[in-house]
Amino acid sequence: MNLVLMGLPGAGKGTQAEKIIDKYSIPHISTGDMFRAAMKEETKLGLQAKSYMDKGELVPDEVTIGIVRERLSKADCQNGFLLDGFPRTVAQAEALEDILSSFGKQIDYCINIEVDKAFLMARLTGRRICSNCGATYHLEFNPPKVADVCDRCGGPLYQRADDHEATVHNRLEVNMKQSKPLLDFYRQKGYLRNINGQQEIDQVFADIDELLSQLADH
Ligand SMILES: [Zn+2]
Repeated sequence: MNLVLMGLPGAGKGTQAEKIIDKYSIPHISTGDMFRAAMKEETKLGLQAKSYMDKGELVPDEVTIGIVRERLSKADCQNGFLLDGFPRTVAQAEALEDILSSFGKQIDYCINIEVDKAFLMARLTGRRICSNCGATYHLEFNPPKVADVCDRCGGPLYQRADDHEATVHNRLEVNMKQSKPLLDFYRQKGYLRNINGQQEIDQVFADIDELLSQLADH
């Protein structure tokens, strides 16, 4: 199953991504991880990306798309993948279509975790992140077993500086504006599936799972 996962910051994308990859044994491909791996392996594209990042410049699309192509051609993507954080633009989505069709594949679903802005505002200001492994928690919805300590690795939890109210509001506005054309693109392609993100974490996953198990049956 070839999936693109979308959702505004705070929609619970990371949590749902973990559940999807656990159950369906497909790799979680996030842009950040992909860049870090390419730079660590010192692939030609990885080195190019690094040279832009070192200068504080945006990595151009052709480099990003090349890295995505390299990643998707690896053996662990044979049975599918979950893309997270890519594509960000319609141009990147079109490039992804080309990459996949060159492998004789296509996207099965673009899963969009839908939540409204008021809900996100409440949710985002309570978010805490493990400074060690990056696991995310929420004081209200998904608290760690011990306050301020990561369940997974024991690392200390922190609140991101940009999880404060004014910054969160701006970030949501920008993200909504950016993701709209992409959602329209996937809707027109017939790949878009909206999932209600304003439910318990397990219920959100149950809805995703229902969609994906139909896919696994085919
Ligand atoms: Zn941790």
